[in-house]
Amino acid sequence: MQKIIPILLAVISFTSCMKGKSVDVVIHNAKVHVMDDKNSIFEAIAFKDGEIVEVGPERQILNRYSADEYIDAQKRDVYPGFTDAHGHIMSYAKQSLSVNLVGCRSYDEMLVLIEKYQSKNNSKFIVGRGWDQSLWKDQKMPDNKRLSELFPNIPVCLFRIDGHALLANDYLIQKSKVVEKVKADAELNQGGYFIMNETDEFTGIMVDNAMNPILELIPDFPENKMSEKILEIQSELYGYGITGVHEAGLENSELKLLEKLIAKNELHLNIYAMLLPTEENIAFAKKNGVYTNKNLLIRSIKVYGDGALGSRGAFLKEAYSDHSGHHGYLTTSFKRMSEIADLCHSIGYQMNTHAIGDSTNRILLELYQKVFNKNPDHRWRIEHAQIVDPLDFNLFAKAGVFPSVQPTHAVSDQRWAVSRIGEKRMIGAYAYKSLLDQFGMIAIGTDFPVESTDPFLTIHAAVQRKNADNFPALGFLPKEQITIEDCIKGMTIWAAFASFQENQLGTLEKGKDATLVIFDRPVESTGVYTPNFAHTTFIKGKKVYSVE
Ligand SMILES: [Zn+2]
Repeated sequence: MQKIIPILLAVISFTSCMKGKSVDVVIHNAKVHVMDDKNSIFEAIAFKDGEIVEVGPERQILNRYSADEYIDAQKRDVYPGFTDAHGHIMSYAKQSLSVNLVGCRSYDEMLVLIEKYQSKNNSKFIVGRGWDQSLWKDQKMPDNKRLSELFPNIPVCLFRIDGHALLANDYLIQKSKVVEKVKADAELNQGGYFIMNETDEFTGIMVDNAMNPILELIPDFPENKMSEKILEIQSELYGYGITGVHEAGLENSELKLLEKLIAKNELHLNIYAMLLPTEENIAFAKKNGVYTNKNLLIRSIKVYGDGALGSRGAFLKEAYSDHSGHHGYLTTSFKRMSEIADLCHSIGYQMNTHAIGDSTNRILLELYQKVFNKNPDHRWRIEHAQIVDPLDFNLFAKAGVFPSVQPTHAVSDQRWAVSRIGEKRMIGAYAYKSLLDQFGMIAIGTDFPVESTDPFLTIHAAVQRKNADNFPALGFLPKEQITIEDCIKGMTIWAAFASFQENQLGTLEKGKDATLVIFDRPVESTGVYTPNFAHTTFIKGKKVYSVE
């Protein structure tokens, strides 16, 4: 026996040398962007059992490996799968099940859309999402008069595009007792408001915390419908080469739904979920600590620091330029944010706080500084970091705070941002280059469904500072342009760092997940927006999308 073994081994190694080591897939004749520190680009990549085996020159990979499947990429770009570092799968699913008001051009059009929807669905509670008065002729906030006339006997609730304001009809306002409840509750009162018209009558629009009594009444969509929509959204994301989402705020019931879809082997997107600080979620976080379930990772809490700029809920150091005396507000009290910070620190969680106004950003930078003193690698994030006092930029470096930004917000808000905050404050607004220079990384997302899921609109907005119509010609606040390489890092390796997954995701290096995308057209940024899509998308070695 002893004599036979060496001979057998020799035979095996000889044949394997001839055929090469076996792998599942080899992609060759490609431009494989590793996204490592050296910005390496190779022609070929081999992977097996969901892991990258080697990236290298064409001949080297083809000689060394024998694959079950060879893909000739025909010189196409291959990147690590993109991550949307701030999105809302759940809101997007709900939006798809509601009356879709995105892009409607007038109050009349909005009413027509609702009537059409209702004639088909005969819903007992009408929910619409996505209106934006800044797209309307007079750009004025609407009132509910005609809405209430049209629907006197059933509740109607219409969310503004940013989700921070809603228009309700009189029936729902009375049923919810929202006015009485908000007046009686200091917390609701401070973190939100009712929009009044010129004659000081209530318009039916509630902003931020003032929406809460209405939110409690909105019925849940059936689980099967939600699941269906979530999987449709997954397919849409795959088609753009997006393989992961940082889900920016989940309720406990929503978390359970995602876990059901994972258990059924239907949801493959990498989900980095931020929990909303509800009682149930906090109990979950305390019990489980850092929690992994296949492609789901939980180790962060999402807090809403303030409202949105469009509905004047963002908290500003100085008053709004178009609303004297109004500063906006914190939607979560400082005391509560401090408690959540202590909790996050004690259980090894990251705190990710929505901060739009310069005041909110400053408050959080100071709060996060305390954590930095105990743990310099905390990676706590400020979501949006939309308006920052230029004097405060250095605090991002000093306190080690990770900026998480959405470049398409800049080019969407460009129509009205200056009227809200005036020229002077625009210096620190949508300042992605300045934020990058401070912290050395930025995580990049879209905030879908507030914006489109299309990452090429994000690249166009970040690099050219232009919207889909290529406006403005010279770019909006062009000093804050970033390079396409940095923009893609924000959606790959920096997004991985921002979610503590840099050892598994974000680059195409040996040992990491074979989560990657072959793009159909060259990945580039020119002055003109050009759509691009995935040709083939892999998650952990599994082909989840292909144009063929
Ligand atoms: Zn968001």
